Amino acid sequence: MAAHDPVEQKYVYDFAEGNKDLKDLLGGKGANLAEMTNLGLPVPPGFTITTEACKAYLTTGREPDGLAAQIEAHLESLEREMGRRLGDPDDPLLVSVRSGAKFSMPGMMETVLNVGLNDRSVVGLSNQAGGNDRFAWDSYRRLIQMFGKTVCEVPGEEFEHALDEIKRAKGTHNDLDLDADDLRGLVDAYKQIFAKHTGREFPQEPREQLDLAIRAVFDSWNAERAILYRRQERIPADLGTAVNVVTMVFGNLGPDSGTGVAFTRDPGSGAQGIYGDYLANAQGEDVVAGIRNTVPLQELEQLDKTSYDQLLGIMARLEEHYKDLCDIEFTIERGKLWMLQTRVGKRTAAAAFVIAGQLVDEGLIDLDEALHRVNGAQLAQLMFPRFQLDHEFEPVAKGIGASPGAASGKVVFTSARAVELAAEGESVILVRRETNPDDLNGMIAAKGILTSRGGKTSHAAVVARGMGKTCVSGADELEVNVPAKKFTVGDHVVSEGDVVSIDGTTGKVYLGEVPVMPSEVVQYFEGELDPDNTDDALVRSVHRIMTHADAARRLRVRTNADTGADAARARRFGAEGIGLCRTEHMFLGDRRELVERLILASGERDREDALAALLPLQRADFIEIFREMDGLPVTVRLIDPPLHEFLPPLEQLAVNVAVAQERGEDVAKEEALLAAVRRMHEENPMLGLRGVRLGLVIPGLFAMQVRAIAEAAVAVVRDGGKACPEIMVPLVGAVQELETVRAEAERIIAEVVGDSGVEVLIGTMIEVPRAALTAGQIAEAAEFFSFGTNDLTQMGWGFSRDDVEGAFFWRYLELGIFGISPFESIDTDGVGRLIRIAAEEGRAARPGLKLGVCGEHGGDPDSVHFFHEVGLDYVSCSPFRVPVARLEAGRASITTTGSDSR
Ligand code: ADP
Ligand code: MG
Ligand code: MG
Repeated sequence: MAAHDPVEQKYVYDFAEGNKDLKDLLGGKGANLAEMTNLGLPVPPGFTITTEACKAYLTTGREPDGLAAQIEAHLESLEREMGRRLGDPDDPLLVSVRSGAKFSMPGMMETVLNVGLNDRSVVGLSNQAGGNDRFAWDSYRRLIQMFGKTVCEVPGEEFEHALDEIKRAKGTHNDLDLDADDLRGLVDAYKQIFAKHTGREFPQEPREQLDLAIRAVFDSWNAERAILYRRQERIPADLGTAVNVVTMVFGNLGPDSGTGVAFTRDPGSGAQGIYGDYLANAQGEDVVAGIRNTVPLQELEQLDKTSYDQLLGIMARLEEHYKDLCDIEFTIERGKLWMLQTRVGKRTAAAAFVIAGQLVDEGLIDLDEALHRVNGAQLAQLMFPRFQLDHEFEPVAKGIGASPGAASGKVVFTSARAVELAAEGESVILVRRETNPDDLNGMIAAKGILTSRGGKTSHAAVVARGMGKTCVSGADELEVNVPAKKFTVGDHVVSEGDVVSIDGTTGKVYLGEVPVMPSEVVQYFEGELDPDNTDDALVRSVHRIMTHADAARRLRVRTNADTGADAARARRFGAEGIGLCRTEHMFLGDRRELVERLILASGERDREDALAALLPLQRADFIEIFREMDGLPVTVRLIDPPLHEFLPPLEQLAVNVAVAQERGEDVAKEEALLAAVRRMHEENPMLGLRGVRLGLVIPGLFAMQVRAIAEAAVAVVRDGGKACPEIMVPLVGAVQELETVRAEAERIIAEVVGDSGVEVLIGTMIEVPRAALTAGQIAEAAEFFSFGTNDLTQMGWGFSRDDVEGAFFWRYLELGIFGISPFESIDTDGVGRLIRIAAEEGRAARPGLKLGVCGEHGGDPDSVHFFHEVGLDYVSCSPFRVPVARLEAGRASITTTGSDSR
């Protein structure tokens, strides 16, 4: 082998040569088999062919030089150790060939057991097993079946049919009723199937079986299902897979043999205590394939107490060694226990938290490691309410699970009705064909939102996700008739006031009320569950880990909140300020009238009147928010959307005018509105007259808002409270824009604030690429930057979010142009670079410049890590995302040597 050639790469590792940290090279399965071997656990001897060999094979299309010789050498030493030769007719060594990449991946080649059997060695195997013909032929038929299916792509059903056929002829359902002759007959049938599909006889040469199986494992790296899975899970495409060649041990040797799987704790709840299944007289996947009824692992104690006790000892040992929940696969051959696999086991979100807490209690890990072991996605999952679907409930429709959670309530079709009924204490579901900004109050009031149109990125979906509110969108079986206040679905007619239930995770819609289970984790965050005084292990653990995350994190976490109620909830969830208070809603609802007056104002006087009427209303809103935040910073964004968003749609106005004219009514106002809407029409509203541009064009608009903010702060302070306002100017692209707004704002603030002691910061959003690139200049006029990552992403990529997500994102995701929508997780290479530049140049120009981010990315786990790394001071996200951001900010701050969390 390689001994004489020092530069030849080592492609094959004996189990004794590896360890658990070599997953990149040996794959997960191989690394852990090596680890168990070195722990002295009973692992059947074997070796691992590295991912490097696989990569070399995949790039050149042939096995790399030296691989064959290295396999030969390791096989020889295995044969020596076992005292048998592969496929020896008299006393065959048999092996399994098992794939094993760094991350376990469905779609990869399955295992081939019993490699080395052929028409002659099957007899030898029987003799060695004391004349157990049945066992030998069962093993042989399994080899042909697995080899045929996974190595040669023979359709698996054909083998299954043949097996069923024999069982039927025999009048049984149980494979244990088949005797040696039946199985010998089955082997013949299998061979015919094999020959028919492959055009060749089943290979009798053991070494050829082995080589073909190894090659098939390599090839399976590029199987379609594997490629799709990698894309979905964002697993790099170039890792390659290792191949494990393992001496066979036999669980199908009789009633004193068997095979099983187990977890060292309950992977569903995290509860301590073993958890597994065992199947006597069986091989390989029988135990999970459901071909016979398995028994709970505990029953093994009756069957084979020695093995059972040994297994428990090994499981305890593994937990202590891996310091985590492990899952294992094992086989018992005539009373001797063999370990065939272990790995750190998958678990539910709840179990992840519970187990991390337990392991800290047990002294196996510290709190840093516990924090590393859980993540924001899991926490988010634990915060959604759920349906209790133990009753018989049939969905009537299925849309898109646009914003997770579970909600039941009376159906309403308008925002106004939603607000009305909610005020009476009713739970309501707002049903619309699609929603628009005018539905905001109704959406806030509703328990859930159901639309018949639009995808995951429709207005309803995006807003609902932002609010943490359950939403099913695009349930296109629904025929929604808003004027008639009803919708039909199939034969059902659902009218206003009827109760429906929607599941924002599955997208399912139910008639009637499905009972909802509240999430105990939300109860905890709401302060309704005392973590020091509950026997709920999940809540105790969440509390402990959150406390540690808060202590560890550098990033502050603020919230996006537009109302006092939102602000209050966000504070309970741990928000340390408001990073984005939008003022748009302050122009909606019954204030529309005033906005229309403002827009239609024919002279300076009219406009001033309208603004003067808006001022006290806005001031009252701000007072409520400042009180709620009690001295925590509140960043108020001056009005941002194009003003025509506050006017009725063109078509509706045109109809109104026509109808009113028909009736001979006075249409002067409608006509004026219609003219305004026509005049204000924009081809590209997102790039049009909005943000700071509005402030510079409409005299008095920003001034009114600045005054309302400053007066509110002063009022709160005069009342003995605290207020810490930060005024944020949207859509700035040039420092001159900001300077102009700033000059006026400073004048007003100075006038209002007087000697009250109130301090008002003035800063800007960085959401136009030009702003990021001229951040050094802009910082001269800004006390803080807040990155508006939604707009920055839109403008950075040059696509309009509302249009592109439905139109072509699916294709981009399919092609791997992005692994995840850049609206969900920050595009670190492009948009992230703009943020980096702006942060650096901004801080260089103004040391101490406060940097934050608002927008949905602020609550996205991966993005939070990026913002931490770039050195921002805070992230701001919707109230429900605040705990997620706290947790991830904590995780970003700790460094651990911990295991891969995938
Ligand atoms: P997977 O990755 O799908 O779990 P494995 O390679 O672990 O595939 O193989 C599946 C099952 O095959 C194992 O759980 C074990 O029961 C059986 N098996 C694999 N190798 C051997 C072996 N050398 N001896 C006995 N059984 C084996
Ligand atoms: Mg396995
Ligand atoms: Mg914006």
